[in-house]
Amino acid sequence: MPIINASQTDPNKILPIRYPWAREYYRAGVANNWTPEEVSMQRDVEQWRSASGLSPDERRLVLWNLGFFSTAESLTANNIVLAVYRHITNPEARQYLLRQAYEEAIHTDAFIYSCDTLGLDPDEVYNMYLRIPSIRDKDDFVVGLTRSVLDPGFSTEGLEGVRRFLRDLIGYYVLMEGIFFYAGFAMMLALRRQNKMVGIGEQFEYIMRDESLHLAFGCELISTIRAENPGAWNDQLEAEVAGLVEQAVVHEQRYAEDACPRGLLGLNAGLFGAYVEYVADRRLERLGMPKRYGTANPFPWMSQATDLVKEKNFFETRVNEYQGALALRWD
Ligand code: FE
Ligand code: MN
Repeated sequence: MPIINASQTDPNKILPIRYPWAREYYRAGVANNWTPEEVSMQRDVEQWRSASGLSPDERRLVLWNLGFFSTAESLTANNIVLAVYRHITNPEARQYLLRQAYEEAIHTDAFIYSCDTLGLDPDEVYNMYLRIPSIRDKDDFVVGLTRSVLDPGFSTEGLEGVRRFLRDLIGYYVLMEGIFFYAGFAMMLALRRQNKMVGIGEQFEYIMRDESLHLAFGCELISTIRAENPGAWNDQLEAEVAGLVEQAVVHEQRYAEDACPRGLLGLNAGLFGAYVEYVADRRLERLGMPKRYGTANPFPWMSQATDLVKEKNFFETRVNEYQGALALRWD
């Protein structure tokens, strides 16, 4: 029974499991559980309120990222629930999608918590996607890419339907979660390395850990659909995807330029732009496509952050407690 277009799949019968990887992603997601309130915002609040805590350019960088992510997280949650879930009928894959949807709710909660604790004007932050062109362009680009799956008349039947679905999954998992989130991750983690807005930085780190699983699950889903539908992936689709990746990189570089127009403490839009190219090459490789940029990673500490964050959670932070709770100790 394939992962899409299986008319005989009973979505309520999860055992026996056909795709063990989907189950593994679910378990990995649960093991990463966290909530925003576990992260102290005390130092962030002090820095944000004090006149000398942050420079105007640093404030702009924080605001731009709150502005993009606050609405982007809802957009991704809605895509999962309203579009992807309907077409993926396999029960263990759906189980992961439910977990992912919950994680997007946690991310949305992180931005509610940040706005509340910093005392930001919600209308200002939550309207940035309309007011700031570099943010609006990213959102419009993604919404345009997922329009066909959101259409109630859309079906994944036939090779053309499978192709449109694959393109939209790439738009959602690879371009949105895999490219459009990463300049923001790099900016907020860079600030944190300078001991600025460390509470928001820690939340971004948890979000990045979740998103790297979403991206990996998405790529697994995409390659499963490709393998099960020979002929759907053709040169034309691959060329289209390559073009979309290039457009996404341009959008993300403009966004970085706009969020960080003058550069701060050894960081500038050029470096963020190079990082976006490096990330885009990794995504292309993951899709089995040739690299496009060949740009070196200007932020080696970013891959370190992705690798180390898990260890850190096992040994240091309170997220650890969930691991204990899961083991159901009775003593
Ligand atoms: Fe998210
Ligand atoms: Mn996500």
